[in-house]
Amino acid sequence: MLVSAMNPCPCGFHTHPRTECTCSPAIVARYQKRISGPLLDRVDVFVEVPPVEYEKLVDEEPAEDSSLLRKRVELAKDVQSDRFKELGFLCNSEMGPAEVWKFCQLDDTAKALLQAATQRLNLSARAFHRILKVSRTIADLAGAGEIAVAHLAEALQYRSRGLAR
Ligand SMILES: [Zn+2]
Repeated sequence: MLVSAMNPCPCGFHTHPRTECTCSPAIVARYQKRISGPLLDRVDVFVEVPPVEYEKLVDEEPAEDSSLLRKRVELAKDVQSDRFKELGFLCNSEMGPAEVWKFCQLDDTAKALLQAATQRLNLSARAFHRILKVSRTIADLAGAGEIAVAHLAEALQYRSRGLAR
């Protein structure tokens, strides 16, 4: 798996809740455009990470115990290797268009949401399939047999929002 991080702008404060960014909008746009569209299109999950307050690091208990999280991930992996045992692959990311069509069926509400998002976000065919695969994984992590509209909505949140906002 490839994991990478970038600053939102040259000074690093573009989305910071308290410290003001000193970059002009044109500078921010130029900075974020340095990553090409076709490259961004191949990334499955985008997450904006706000700064963590010192008090939170010190005082708060971690949200989800990592051993529980590990169990949930292992269960989801088992579900996936089971799903694909006749196809000879192990996980959702390996699905081609035929498998996406077969294993990522949506109900009517979810279909309507995906159609609206495809138009609004101007999604490529590749991005469209990636969203369905990520939705399938979110459903698997939740222990759900079918992809629900909430799973699709979560997957859509992880798309690049043109970065600059
Ligand atoms: Zn800045």
